[in-house]
Amino acid sequence: LGRRINAAVTDLTRSQNLDEKAFESMLKELCNALVSADVNIRLVQQLRKSIKAKVDFKNLPPTTNANSKKRLIQQAVFDHLVDLVDPHAEPYKPKKGRSNVIMFVGLQGAGKTTTCTKLARHYAQRGFKACLVCADTFRAGAYDQLKQNATKAKIPYYGSLTQTDPSIVAAEGVARFKKEKFEIIIVDTSGRHRQEADLFAEMEQVQSAIKPDQTIMVLDGTIGQAAESQSSAFKSTANFGAIIITKTDGGAAGGGAISAVAATHTPIIFLGTGEHMLDLERFAPKPFISKLLGYGDMSGLIEHVQAVTKDNASAKETYKHISEGIFTLRDLKSQITNVMKMGPLSKVAGMIPGMSNMMAGMDDEDGSTKMKRMIYIFDSMTEKELDSDGKMLIQQPSRMTRIAHGSGTSVREVKDLLTQAKMMAGFAKNMGGQKKNMQRAEAMM
Ligand code: GDP
Ligand code: MG
Repeated sequence: LGRRINAAVTDLTRSQNLDEKAFESMLKELCNALVSADVNIRLVQQLRKSIKAKVDFKNLPPTTNANSKKRLIQQAVFDHLVDLVDPHAEPYKPKKGRSNVIMFVGLQGAGKTTTCTKLARHYAQRGFKACLVCADTFRAGAYDQLKQNATKAKIPYYGSLTQTDPSIVAAEGVARFKKEKFEIIIVDTSGRHRQEADLFAEMEQVQSAIKPDQTIMVLDGTIGQAAESQSSAFKSTANFGAIIITKTDGGAAGGGAISAVAATHTPIIFLGTGEHMLDLERFAPKPFISKLLGYGDMSGLIEHVQAVTKDNASAKETYKHISEGIFTLRDLKSQITNVMKMGPLSKVAGMIPGMSNMMAGMDDEDGSTKMKRMIYIFDSMTEKELDSDGKMLIQQPSRMTRIAHGSGTSVREVKDLLTQAKMMAGFAKNMGGQKKNMQRAEAMM
């Protein structure tokens, strides 16, 4: 999607006199790209209107050049989409020293059981006493699945193989864990019934049996246009206060997430990014949209390098590399070092494409810890490794192990960093081909 949108905007600016006709056709291509990313058609039409109103071509100063126009359009699209995934509603915030009962709802297969373990672990890591209750008595094996996950994550759990009434199991589990002074009690529910009406009735019964402080809807990120009707249906019955979108790792376009928020005016709080227990990211509107639009591209990186690291030799080197279609680990290291010099992370991380994805949902403290750890990783690499694009490291896992050991980090962190670098290298390669762009950028440097 990002590529298509960028292509739409780039085509437009290539014709030097960016006229209204070109603008119209670009807008059309942009809207098609959004619809094919499963953004609700009605929302796309609204976006189109809003962009047209914001980028008022006739009234722009005649001196506005194509580049500034392009930036205006990109900014308008970005702002509009960010607004769509940001309902400006505060989700429930669990408090320590008391019980916080959280109930999960969502269709079978959405990822509830997987995600409730992730979330319990997330809170346990932050010092909460967290536990899980299995109230899915419908599907055979549901309790075993939860048990297995919970055991792996070292999270206490409750469930029953004999009790068939989910609201009784839920109430028993919650009562027991409340007595044991658990702070986060997450209740997993069933997602399928012979009749949809039965499922909704069961949801209401469980809800009134345990009176959760927060109900979270788990929504499969790959269901596309169905996100709107599905989230609306659950909202009207379970009135959930937060959404978690799962399976965002599968290259799903993200349009479903936008539709769900727009339809329910409910904030997304986390994204599921894989099957593993650690694959849970805090959601933040700006990095999400930035990723959706593919703004983690090299033209943005070049602008960034120019804007914030003038007179900086390493930045110039990076720039030269990019223009040759190269992006080494050393380049990424110098990017991160520069950001760290620049003060509050929240202000600057978003400016580096790719970095914003890595830092998604982190506060300044988490983010700078993460960046420091990345620098430790780089510091444990050999010169030859630093000057590579990282492929040799991915191909030789023993190198990753050595680096993880040497830097006091995990192989997973090393891998994540290399994945990021690989993506950046891919962008650089694309960019290297676009000689025209590069020459223009060079003139600006
Ligand atoms: P439930 O029926 O809603 O409880 O869904 P499950 O938790 O059993 O998940 C259904 C399937 O989706 C399982 O195979 C999970 O491993 C998978 N799954 C859940 N979350 C994610 C995610 O974020 N990414 C990926 N790739 N798979 C996921
Ligand atoms: Mg389940």
